[in-house]
Amino acid sequence: MVEQAKHQSNGTYQNLYDESIRNPKGFWARQADLIHWQKPFEKVLDDSKPPFADWYVGGETNLCYNAVDRHLDQLGDKPALIYVSTEVNQEKVYTFRQLHQEVQIAAAMLQKMGVKKGDRVLIYMPMIPEATFAMLACARIGAIHSVVFGGFASHSLASRIEDAKPKVIVSADAGSRAGKAVAYKPLLDEAIARSSYKPGHVLMVNRGLVPFDTVKGRDHDYAALRKELATAKVPVTWLEATDTSYILYTSGTTGKPKGVQRDVGGYAVALAASMKYIFMGEKGKTFFATSDIGWVVGHSYIIYGPLIAGMATVMYEGLPIRPDAGIWWKIVQDHKVSVLFSAPTAVRVLKKQDPAYLSKYDLSSLKALFLAGEPLDETTSDWISGAIGKPIVDNYWQTETGWPILAIQRGVEEMPGKLGSPGVPVFGFNVNVLNEDTAQPCRTNEKGVVAIEGPLPPGCMQTVWGDDERFVKTYWSSFKTRQVYSTFDWGIRDEDGYFFILGRTDDVINVAGHRLGTREIEESISSHPAVAEVAVVGVADQVKGQVAVAFAILKSADAVNETQAKTLEAEIMKVVDSQLGAVARPARVYFVNVLPKTRSGKLLRRSIQAVCEGRDPGDMTTIEDPTALAQIKNAMA
Ligand code: AMP
Repeated sequence: MVEQAKHQSNGTYQNLYDESIRNPKGFWARQADLIHWQKPFEKVLDDSKPPFADWYVGGETNLCYNAVDRHLDQLGDKPALIYVSTEVNQEKVYTFRQLHQEVQIAAAMLQKMGVKKGDRVLIYMPMIPEATFAMLACARIGAIHSVVFGGFASHSLASRIEDAKPKVIVSADAGSRAGKAVAYKPLLDEAIARSSYKPGHVLMVNRGLVPFDTVKGRDHDYAALRKELATAKVPVTWLEATDTSYILYTSGTTGKPKGVQRDVGGYAVALAASMKYIFMGEKGKTFFATSDIGWVVGHSYIIYGPLIAGMATVMYEGLPIRPDAGIWWKIVQDHKVSVLFSAPTAVRVLKKQDPAYLSKYDLSSLKALFLAGEPLDETTSDWISGAIGKPIVDNYWQTETGWPILAIQRGVEEMPGKLGSPGVPVFGFNVNVLNEDTAQPCRTNEKGVVAIEGPLPPGCMQTVWGDDERFVKTYWSSFKTRQVYSTFDWGIRDEDGYFFILGRTDDVINVAGHRLGTREIEESISSHPAVAEVAVVGVADQVKGQVAVAFAILKSADAVNETQAKTLEAEIMKVVDSQLGAVARPARVYFVNVLPKTRSGKLLRRSIQAVCEGRDPGDMTTIEDPTALAQIKNAMA
């Protein structure tokens, strides 16, 4: 497997990768120098209880120290946190020194509420600086943060409170979306009421957006405490590398969210290495990830990664097209962003806007645009690279891994990319495509399950919070014959060692006994020149078991009449026929204006499928546009 990418590498990537797989302990011992250790580790890796992997055993360090304190001498007066909000029209820059003080104040607040090492703090906040302070404050004193995306409503929030049992919840009166305040506090109060576990304290940032009720004795005002603790000095608590830094809940196939649990030392090293080898991060420059702190990208590449690398990080509260589609590029220009990280879905949104916005601003500081989170289709990738004239770097990973599994590691070597492929395995990840029955490696270009041989490299999940058994059962038990980490993604590896991701194994559909990835069909349909975006789901069928049904958004905003729709549908089916075979041809192609997605841009395929089959679409609290499902319903009718 290690041999596979040789044709495309001049040897630099290949040598680094080979070493990381053949001698992980040596490789990761060297990478450990990228961060500060208060006490050196005794053992690089303890993998005596597979599939659990303890990295840097005996070592002591601290994420907050590495992200903030460590840079004070050199970068104290340089920007660390750049807050830009087009929602409340505010911009505020914190230097490393100012950030250091704000974090100590927040840490003092938590300590005042009795928070100690190992206690959980739940953070339910919009994209405001106090959210960053709270996260780093937890890291500073060894409290375990659990950030819950602000778009989640009380039901999802309650289940996370119940599971994490936080001593304190940090929240705000409201978020804001498209200029409209979205109240958080009533949802939080309701969630606490629903939960059998009750937190002792709630720390409230009052943005003055929405009035809210205060529970006496439980709720505290952030601004008042900040004033009181303005000069607080809170020393770093040195933590074992294997202590827990945070829990981040992610949904799986069951209704109960899984708490992805991450360590301290391994995570810090993995992020530092990724900043260097993948993201080409340079000290003193600016990193801008357009995600949200509620997602893993927000944890790794809004907060910890850039700061550990000594970069300023942009925290942007707002939409990509408001006040207009030039906003990201204006931020790039104004703050000399060198690395931009976003998701394909956001680029597809831009694709529908006036392209003039993309050439309006000076992008000379920008080295590359990184895209992750979902498959990057060739058309979108081509379009954006043409429009901004910068390299586009697809990278593939998961909440569970915390940092990229597949990418072109441009910080190592300028290897050519391939359209439609996130690239080759990242150092440390022994990635394979396995036959789902035999667990044997697939042949070149043969479809199988993307799997990672243990031990996972540093930075990946330690376990499922409070449930080791679930960790082993969910991720390491897909194959009967041996223990391998399953990504639950279908993929292929080509003759040059490049991987292509074909969609989740759990979104698989079965048409007349043939297994099909909905993603493959979507890719095929997307290649039709009229199609901007498409979702394919498997819908129950009495004869075939399931049939594929497609919902497509057309590039042209003009409505299509019935005859045009019929013609287009036939054309699209023909495209699929010719590319994948008639077996993959969707039974119907419907045209809609919007697709149901989460606010992080994930297609809600299962909800679409449920609507198509006349079932309840389930918890819709994260849906971006609630009218989207109605469109699916109407289309089917
Ligand atoms: P999440 O944990 O929400 O980040 O979702 C992880 C899943 O998103 C992966 O298992 C993939 O199915 C998908 N994914 C993430 N990045 C990519 C990518 N670059 N290309 C294709 N699929 C991706």
